[in-house]
Amino acid sequence: MDVKANTHICDSPITPDQDAPRPHRSAVSYLIVVEGGIPGTMLRLAEQGTSLGRSAENTFQFYHATVSRRHAFVRMDSEGEFYLVDQASTNGTLLNGRRLEARRAHPLKDGDRVQLGSGVVLKLVRLDPCDERFHSEMFERTVRDPMTGLYNRSYFLDQIGALRCRHGAQGTGLAVLMLDVDHFKRINDHYGHLAGDTVLREVAAVIRESTRSEDLVARYGGEEFVVALPVSAPDLATERAERIRANQAARRIQAGGAEIRVSVSIGLAFGPPGRMRDELSLIEMADQALYQAKAAGRNRVALGRPGANPDSQVTQSAEFSTTSSQWPVTRG
Ligand code: GH3
Ligand code: MG
Ligand code: MG
Repeated sequence: MDVKANTHICDSPITPDQDAPRPHRSAVSYLIVVEGGIPGTMLRLAEQGTSLGRSAENTFQFYHATVSRRHAFVRMDSEGEFYLVDQASTNGTLLNGRRLEARRAHPLKDGDRVQLGSGVVLKLVRLDPCDERFHSEMFERTVRDPMTGLYNRSYFLDQIGALRCRHGAQGTGLAVLMLDVDHFKRINDHYGHLAGDTVLREVAAVIRESTRSEDLVARYGGEEFVVALPVSAPDLATERAERIRANQAARRIQAGGAEIRVSVSIGLAFGPPGRMRDELSLIEMADQALYQAKAAGRNRVALGRPGANPDSQVTQSAEFSTTSSQWPVTRG
C-alpha cells in the first residue's frame, strides 16, 4: 500500500512508528476504542505520556460532547507501568466502572476499561508483535476500501471532525471535495465490470497522486470519492480540485483491451476557520455543488456557496467531455 493511501490525522494508530522507543521489546501498550469511535482503533501509549480529550492539542482527540477539552492523561513510569490521571474533567473518568478522583494517578493494567464522560470507552491491551500485527491487519480491513486501498466512507466520516478541529485551531479552513466519475455506467456496459474496476483503481491513484499526506481521501461509495483538504482560502481549494480534475482528464487507462479516458466532476465546499460550518453540512454543500457540475456538462469543478444562485456556482469549464458524441475518447 502506498504512502498516500496511508494518510492519518493523528499519530498513526495503525502504523506504529518503528523508531519510537518501546518500554518492553516484546510488548507495546494500546488503548483500543470500544465505544465512541471506530471500534478497534488502536491508540498507542507513548513513553512520554498520552493526553486524551476533545481539543486538538491532545495526543488523541475524542469528538464527543461529554469529553472535556483536556480530559485525562496516561503516564508511564520507569518500570513501564501505566497510570491514569483524570484532568478534573467535567463528566469524569471511570476506571472499570468507578469514577476516579481528579488529578490522582491510578495504576492501569492489561484489560482495564477506561471511560471518558458517558460516550467513550477504551480498553488497555498489551500486544506482542504478533498480536499487534494481527490487530492492525484486522483494523485496516475495517477502515479501508479493499478495491482501491483508500479509506472507506465510515472512516472518513469518523475522522473529518478531528481534521477540521485540528486545522481550525491553527487558523486553517477545510474544503470538502465530492468527486464522481462521469458516465461510468457506460464504461461497465462497454468494457465490462472488471475493466470498470480497473478504471476505479486508476481514478483512486490519480486522486492519491494529486493530494497531500495531510488530506483525508476516501472512496465514498460506488464511483464516488471524497477528499477533505486543509486549506486557507476557497481559491486554493478550487485550484487543488481543478488539478485533480485535469490530472484525471489527462490520464490514459489501460483496461479491457483498450485505452480509456474518463473524467470526473467535482463539487467543492469550503469552511473558513472560526466561522466554519459543521462538517456534515460541508459534505452536503459539496454534494449539491457536484450536482451542479454534472448539470453544467461534467468534467468540471463547481464551488458550493451557501445561498448563492446555483447557476453561478460552476467555476471551471471542461477541456473535453465524456458526452455520448465524444465517448469513449480513445479505443485500443
Ligand atoms: P454520471 O455522469 O451522471 O455520474 O453517470 P454515471 O453513469 O457515472 O452514474 P450512474 O449512477 O448511472 O452509474 C454508476 C455506475 O457505477 C453504476 C454501478 O453499477 C457502477 N459501479 C458502482 N460501484 C462499482 C464498482 O465497484 N465496480 C464497477 N465496475 N462498477 C461500479
Ligand atoms: Mg455516482
Ligand atoms: Mg458517475
